[in-house]
Amino acid sequence: MVVIGAGPAGSMAAKYAARCGASTLLLEEHRAIGWPVQCAGLLGCRALSESELGHGSFLRQRFRGAAVYSPAGVRLEFKAASPRAWAVDRSLFDRALVEETLSSGAELRLGAPVRKMEEDGGGKVLHLYSGDRIRSRVVISAEGVKARLARQAGIPPAQKILSGAQVEVPFRVQDPESVEVHLGAAPGLFAWVIPRGEDSARIGLCANENGCRFLRAFLEKDLIRSRILGSPVAVNLGGLPLGPPSFAVANGLIAVGDCAAQVKPTSGGGVYPGLLCAKIAGKVAAAAAGEGDVSQERLSEYDRLWRKALGRELEIGMRLNRILIRMGPEELDRVVGYLGGNEKLLRAIEEHGDIDRPSVLLARMLPHLGLDGFRFAGLLRRALR
Ligand SMILES: Cc1cc2nc3c(=O)[nH]c(=O)nc-3n(C[C@H](O)[C@H](O)[C@H](O)COP(=O)(O)OP(=O)(O)OC[C@H]3O[C@@H](n4cnc5c(N)ncnc54)[C@H](O)[C@@H]3O)c2cc1C
Repeated sequence: MVVIGAGPAGSMAAKYAARCGASTLLLEEHRAIGWPVQCAGLLGCRALSESELGHGSFLRQRFRGAAVYSPAGVRLEFKAASPRAWAVDRSLFDRALVEETLSSGAELRLGAPVRKMEEDGGGKVLHLYSGDRIRSRVVISAEGVKARLARQAGIPPAQKILSGAQVEVPFRVQDPESVEVHLGAAPGLFAWVIPRGEDSARIGLCANENGCRFLRAFLEKDLIRSRILGSPVAVNLGGLPLGPPSFAVANGLIAVGDCAAQVKPTSGGGVYPGLLCAKIAGKVAAAAAGEGDVSQERLSEYDRLWRKALGRELEIGMRLNRILIRMGPEELDRVVGYLGGNEKLLRAIEEHGDIDRPSVLLARMLPHLGLDGFRFAGLLRRALR
């Protein structure tokens, strides 16, 4: 079996396919793993546990809290009793995943971009840019957001692709244990400040389009500009696909990770859903290849299983995303003000906040919404429906 792309999803899919007994080759177009970095590196505890890596040298910093800023600058703080998320070095994280994959028996070929894929009787022939051809009964496409080969194989595109932009800058951090979330910074999602120690941060945002332009404007805001201590030392740009297609399998092919838009619409985080779905992809692909039936019908077991595990969460996330982007600055100010004045809601957020499973928190928040939060409660109920 061939897996295209050695990002988190591809590595994990290859690891599980090899573990299930399939002879597995992982192809990566770049000559090094984990480059270029297109990530803020914020992973929730579930993502770390899903990675099966334990506590490695890729862990940089842990976070217990968040400070949410409304467009008018009203600050709302939450702090959980224990760490909820980590900043990781994504290059080291991706390398650690690949090392585990190789220990499971899979092979890796670097500098091996796949140019095209063709049908070949009961399987696929992959044409590399080098001229080499590789035959495989089943292919797992973990190409990331571009998803060129998966699209050619008939997998529909994501519902939308956000434009992400981020810089790493010397920065006066207010609280190294808290990430900052700035609502209304761009149409699309929000802006983030992820501390790296006390004097550096990754500052970025996702917008419906032209993330760079909105990021430049965000960096000029007084609240941010006054804390920047020097020039950026890194710039990351990339697309974030939201809203998975109606199916992610074709004859002889499974799409996973960003390639199948398995990304949380509430945060743009794709590592947790990608890892979770990749395990299912690796198992189903190995079983189907072993049975000699890699038809779309047989592989649709993957679609059924990943949707069972995560489909509802991503649907709720899409609804929340739509609600968030429809809110104007005044409404966002009102929501943050309302949350700040409701002690029970704040405690619920501190206790149940989970960046990987926002629906769990929403369900816990509902009972604490009083009559004054009537409209807010209506919005949340609509998202959870
Ligand atoms: C600015 C920004 C910030 C982000 N921050 C976070 C965050 O804090 N937390 C989080 O969870 N997620 C974050 N994300 C999203 C996260 O980076 C992705 O969801 C994640 O990397 C997807 O993993 P993947 O394995 O599906 O794809 P990728 O990591 O994109 O890996 C795909 C791999 O396939 C290779 N490839 C592509 N085509 C071919 C080909 N034809 N032949 C061979 N190889 C090929 C690529 O080189 C690449 O290595 C962020 C994204 C952006 C843009």
